[in-house]
Amino acid sequence: MKTNTDHVVFKDNAFRCLHCGAFEPVEFPVDAMVFVRASKRFLKPHRGCKQPVTVSERHLEILRHSLGLDYEGRGRQYRNHYCAGGEDVQSCEALVASGHMVRRHISPELTGGDPLFMVTELGKAEAVKGVKPLTRSKARYERWLSSNCDMSFGEWIKGGFCNE
Ligand SMILES: [Zn+2]
Repeated sequence: MKTNTDHVVFKDNAFRCLHCGAFEPVEFPVDAMVFVRASKRFLKPHRGCKQPVTVSERHLEILRHSLGLDYEGRGRQYRNHYCAGGEDVQSCEALVASGHMVRRHISPELTGGDPLFMVTELGKAEAVKGVKPLTRSKARYERWLSSNCDMSFGEWIKGGFCNE
């Protein structure tokens, strides 16, 4: 089997592995044979370097939306499904490939024919990775914002009751 080594390049006077970021500078002038040997030596350990799995913004949105979180990854996870249509199908397939989602096979009548995806544990971890919880005051402010209350924040915070 031929290994793909397109990710190991020579650029800006150094051998570079685009997958793990390692590099080895080359001093010029350099003898051709020395150069070839150095390139082979550099290539060897990086042959099997895997491309880091990066989850794009859109993919993150899908994971968060599937779990019922807001687009910043906050809130409570109260569901786990994504009924994908259009271009999102491709995004979900990519998330399946990276292990963040699984495709559920259910009766097409239930989803109108759209494929249904679920977030894996890996995907759940990704959805909230690096998300800082809101401070209490910020959380209260957010709650006031999302309530359909005509009270000012000042009134509301003082315990004004409001039919949200
Ligand atoms: Zn590497």
